[in-house]
Amino acid sequence: MRPYNFSADPSTMPEPVLRRIRDEFLDWQGTGCSILEASHRSPRVLALVKELEERVRSLLGVPDTHAVLFCQGGARLQFAMVPMNLLGAGTVASYIVTGTWSKSAETEAMRFARIQSAFAGNGTRTPSDEEIDVTAESSYLYYCDNETVHGVEFAGIPDSGAAGVPLVADMSSNFMSRPVDVSKFGLLYAAAQKNFGPAGLTVVVVRRDLLGLASPEVPTLLNYAVYEKTGSMPNTPAVFQLYCSNLMAAWIESEGGLAEMDARARERSRIVYEALDEHPDVYLQRVDRASRSRMNVVFHPAEEALTPVFLKEAHEAGLLNLAGHRTVGGLRASLYNAMPVSGAIALADFLHAFARRHPR
Ligand code: PLP
Repeated sequence: MRPYNFSADPSTMPEPVLRRIRDEFLDWQGTGCSILEASHRSPRVLALVKELEERVRSLLGVPDTHAVLFCQGGARLQFAMVPMNLLGAGTVASYIVTGTWSKSAETEAMRFARIQSAFAGNGTRTPSDEEIDVTAESSYLYYCDNETVHGVEFAGIPDSGAAGVPLVADMSSNFMSRPVDVSKFGLLYAAAQKNFGPAGLTVVVVRRDLLGLASPEVPTLLNYAVYEKTGSMPNTPAVFQLYCSNLMAAWIESEGGLAEMDARARERSRIVYEALDEHPDVYLQRVDRASRSRMNVVFHPAEEALTPVFLKEAHEAGLLNLAGHRTVGGLRASLYNAMPVSGAIALADFLHAFARRHPR
């Protein structure tokens, strides 16, 4: 049996997807060549990219008003591409900060825009709609749907009441883990490497009327309109990553789609949070209950010296990569789409056993 891999980035992948990649690695679609050798201009690869786009559209329910683009450069490149493309004639952008990634995105956007702070959080909770303050002159309102480092997730789509200000979301760590009303967004994006395949592919879903706002100085490869015009092939794309994400999308479809991914995510995280909540003297949690992430469960041993002991014993029990992000320390269990419910149960059993072995 494979060990359970709770890594945040990159994440574990579903075993059937890994087996399929292995099985057809040397001979893709009977061509006698590997997918690594396939030209991005070949009809087969063009069909593959079309298939992936259609799967993303159908799984997420992307309306015709929105384009689906495939970019490279990870989520961090989007921190710059978003302001470079969406500011238009404006100069102000609003940011909701709920943790590390929205803070980094806000800092990057300062190169291009005057930032209006719509909410400045400390990594423990998401704001209520009433707390979000957006100026009408803002070109867009940005937030991170799931803060991977702090384990803070929005329960629903924030509604600032600022009609006409496009909403932009970083969904890198909860993409394809629950149904989303795409029509509410000006743009949403996700680096693939948590819920949707290996690193190297970033999916961008953008309202078509927001394409073409970039000024002429914006480099060609940082302009969304160029991706739209070229079928996401302004240069050589990451064909292997597109191929893997297409297999992930097919797997999500075959397992029941996003409603099922959400049901599993809720079940996995419920099991782990319940185990932690049973031992409040051993495990500390800083995130408000209503903002707890279904994807990244972040906690700290009350006795900080027990962190390495926990990691060592967990590893020996086949529970891998439970260290917290290096900036916050502690522990983190990432429970993405590919994590079976049995992984959450194994972790919960371990949490109880560890608490009994190391009482306070
Ligand atoms: N946004 C979120 C929510 C993330 O979790 C991460 C990485 O973990 C990033 C952005 C940065 O991603 P990348 O390494 O693809 O630039």
